[in-house]
Amino acid sequence: MSTHINKGNPDQDRVPVAVIVGAGMAGQELAFSLRQYGWAGRIVLLGEEAHLPYRRPELSKSLLAAHTDADALSLRPGAAYDSAGIALRLNTRVASIDRQRRTLRLSEGAELGYDVLVLATGGRARRLPLEVPAGVAIHYLRGFDDAALLHKQFVPGKRLLMVGGGYVGLEVAALAAAAGLRVVVAEAMPRLLARVASPELSAFVERAHRQAGIELRLGATVAALARHGGRCEARLSDGATVVADIVVGGIGMTPEVALAEAAGLAIANGIAVDALSRTSDAAIYAIGDCCDRFHDFLSRRIRLESVPNASEQARRVAAQLTGRPVPASGVPWFWSNQGEQKIQIVGVFEAGLRTVSRPGQSEGQLSVFHLAGDRIRAAECVNSPADFAQARRLISSQTSVPDHQLADAAFPLSAIQALAACT
Ligand SMILES: Cc1cc2nc3c(=O)[nH]c(=O)nc-3n(C[C@H](O)[C@H](O)[C@H](O)COP(=O)(O)OP(=O)(O)OC[C@H]3O[C@@H](n4cnc5c(N)ncnc54)[C@H](O)[C@@H]3O)c2cc1C
Repeated sequence: MSTHINKGNPDQDRVPVAVIVGAGMAGQELAFSLRQYGWAGRIVLLGEEAHLPYRRPELSKSLLAAHTDADALSLRPGAAYDSAGIALRLNTRVASIDRQRRTLRLSEGAELGYDVLVLATGGRARRLPLEVPAGVAIHYLRGFDDAALLHKQFVPGKRLLMVGGGYVGLEVAALAAAAGLRVVVAEAMPRLLARVASPELSAFVERAHRQAGIELRLGATVAALARHGGRCEARLSDGATVVADIVVGGIGMTPEVALAEAAGLAIANGIAVDALSRTSDAAIYAIGDCCDRFHDFLSRRIRLESVPNASEQARRVAAQLTGRPVPASGVPWFWSNQGEQKIQIVGVFEAGLRTVSRPGQSEGQLSVFHLAGDRIRAAECVNSPADFAQARRLISSQTSVPDHQLADAAFPLSAIQALAACT
């Protein structure tokens, strides 16, 4: 089953070729990790976007706050790829995979062989399930060009309708409001962040956004869109009508599985991989947002959409391919910046966990812990980086935690692990 390829290949004319499809967060991390860990073969990194691999989370953060060019968001300068011997090919879309011949067909028609193929194809913004009338443009946010286009629309006084109250939607809403736009968020669920966060975090975030002047319409979907002069009229399921200058769809993403599916690889909620990111073909791996993986730490399958996950999977695949020990999976974590709220989450919140809140030092802080028995499974912290760091340690070490210590703001979380070690 192992595809580890002898990096000391005696045949100098035939070095192994690792091809990575997708020059995003996961793809670039893998390319550099492979080199760093001693991969002596060729590394080809193919990306359909025109830009050097960049920090995608900044699209809904610094880029919308103040326009920057793509280079300012680059993870590494172009010269770094040359120095590391990574053949980076931008504007290059992979059209198909021939698994028998171990070749790829590129969109411009060329063929490229591989020994190991890694799919790091990310995902696409999910489209609103609506008929869009001629003359109405819906913005989505997945790539640099999307964000640059949206930023141009940020003119004070304009009205922006954000469809979807998830992390990305709320980041955009907060930045638009801060830029002087009038913002309405329509969220289908009865609370914000319903798919990913606890009711406690949802309520905290809701209060903050309302205080920032954002109009939140919860439990409301967009029923229909119509053109209204040069603007867009959205009829909501709660009976309201919003006439907006800008409409943004923020209802999540769908993993990019088309290549894998057409090649006959197993698909679940993404490209199906095992705990080591191996697909149903021993020569093909998948990492990052595009894959549905078995997660060792969580002991279940999950598809994660986060930079730490993309980086971790990339480094673990690089270790396998270079014959190094594979590091264990860590506890998943995530962050989101929404106006003044710096949100950090560790673990995965699930209904049925017991919740303990820890009072913050100030009104703008929140720390909530979600436990199964006496072990923390997830923690959500707002403007509380120290609590987040301690929660991460306590979850990773699976330390037994008494509720009363968590709930006591005067009791240092750092002492819990030390005390547990003494008992
Ligand atoms: C607006 C926004 C804000 C975010 N904020 C955060 C955050 O605060 N914290 C956090 O942890 N995560 C955040 N994320 C999620 C994070 O960016 C992703 O988890 C991460 O980018 C995943 O990396 P990836 O390499 O799997 O996918 P991507 O970074 O999406 O890269 C995939 C690349 O593959 C390319 N590609 C796809 N198909 C092909 C093909 N056939 N041929 C060639 N190239 C192809 C795509 O064009 C893309 O460049 C955010 C995402 C977005 C969109």
